[in-house]
Amino acid sequence: MRTLLFFSIFALGCATGAGALNTGKPMDPVPNPITQTGALVLRERAKDVSPEQLVSPEFQALITRMVDAMRKAPGVGLAAPQLGVSLRVLVMEDRPELQASLTPAELAERERVPVPLRVLINPTLTPIGEEKVTFFEGCLSVSGYAALVERFREVEVSGLDERGQPQTWRVRGWPARILQHEVDHLNGTLYIDRMVSRSFGTLPQVKALYGGKRIEEIKQTFGVK
Ligand SMILES: [Zn+2]
Repeated sequence: MRTLLFFSIFALGCATGAGALNTGKPMDPVPNPITQTGALVLRERAKDVSPEQLVSPEFQALITRMVDAMRKAPGVGLAAPQLGVSLRVLVMEDRPELQASLTPAELAERERVPVPLRVLINPTLTPIGEEKVTFFEGCLSVSGYAALVERFREVEVSGLDERGQPQTWRVRGWPARILQHEVDHLNGTLYIDRMVSRSFGTLPQVKALYGGKRIEEIKQTFGVK
C-alpha cells in the first residue's frame, strides 16, 4: 500500500471501496455523486455566493454534503461544481490517515502536511513568488487517472469561512497545490487543461511506473524542467 497514495492527492481510495471490501458480501453498486468530466457545470465560471445565500439552510446543507462527499471518496478537496452546483465554494482537508502510506521522504518532497477541515467561499487566490513545482495529481471528477501538473509552490488565498467571516491563508507545498486545483474548479478549469499531457495515465499505470521514484527522475522521463 505504500505507493498507493504516492502520486495522487485527489482521486485515490475509490478502488479499495472504503469498507465495501470488508463486508464479506458482493460490492454494492455505489452511485458516484461526484460530477465527471464532460459535464458543463465543470466548465463554467461558478457564481459568487451572496451574503443572504451564505446563511441559508440550503447553502449550509451544501457544505455538509461537500464535506461528506470529499471524505467518502476519499479526497483532500472538493469544489461545489463537482456536486453539480455552480457556486464559488470549496472544502479541503488532508487527514493524517490519508498520508499514512507515504514515507517521510515522500511527504517532505511534496511538502505535504496535515490540514484540518477548511471551507472557503468566494475565494481569491494569489501566487506568492515565481517558484513552481511539478507532481502527479488526480481529480475526483476525472476518476481513475493522474498526470504531472505544474503548480505555484506558495499561494495566498482570501475568502469567507462557512459563517461568512473573512479569512486569509498563506500556504506552500501540497496545501497550496490543493487550493490551486480547487480554485481552478470554480473557474471551469480542470487539471487536464494544465497537465503534461504525455504523462496522463491510469492510476494503476502511473503507480506501477512511477511509484517510489523521486520527482526529479520522473520529470526527466517526460523532459520536464
Ligand atoms: Zn478536482
